[in-house]
Amino acid sequence: PCRGSWSSESSDSVISTDSGNNLYRVVLIGETGVGKSTLTSIFAGLQNNLENWGVLGEDTYERTITVDGEGATLVVMDTWENKDEDNWKQNHCMLIGDAYLIVYSITDRASFEKASELRIQLRRTRQAEDIPIILVGNKCDLVRCREVSVAEGRSCAVVFDCKFIETSAAVQHNVQELFEGIVRQVRLRRDSKEV
Ligand code: GDP
Ligand code: MG
Repeated sequence: PCRGSWSSESSDSVISTDSGNNLYRVVLIGETGVGKSTLTSIFAGLQNNLENWGVLGEDTYERTITVDGEGATLVVMDTWENKDEDNWKQNHCMLIGDAYLIVYSITDRASFEKASELRIQLRRTRQAEDIPIILVGNKCDLVRCREVSVAEGRSCAVVFDCKFIETSAAVQHNVQELFEGIVRQVRLRRDSKEV
């Protein structure tokens, strides 16, 4: 729905460099209330008045950022919410992403456990693929309400075979780093394929 050159059916859906069009679909998944929409809105610049973002429909935002001197267009999809009753749509989310942010709240252990479930579900849905994933421990500003330690988050990411970062959407800590990080994860895989 976004760009003509972008095939949603391809299992290798990362756009190749020679198209000059580094467009990646990043899907946020995680328990309700962990901060997915807030993280997305910061990325989309909805809280500032940035010009380089576009709304592509409900809960989907496109923005081009420069990471390590190279441009990348991210289509960020915050479409997981309100789909709890809808297995088909959740499964669709699991299928369409080029990369995933699995978000939990450091103040909510149940959301951390949910993250593990989602990782397993993603692995089952996309078996043969090496999908870039970042495990995101959000709300790290709420120090006194912490239920999940940094060490637990980190070791969970080792088991998940993915990257880990703690963020705070509330005080905008590590949000830019998160989205730059997912671009780097996509590129690592892309570059290793080119060799
Ligand atoms: P979603 O259901 O995952 O999309 O979560 P939302 O983005 O709607 O956030 C749920 C609630 O948590 C809202 O009241 C947000 O303001 C709040 N919230 C989100 N991120 C943070 C954060 O980093 N720190 C704090 N203190 N609150 C946050
Ligand atoms: Mg939401």
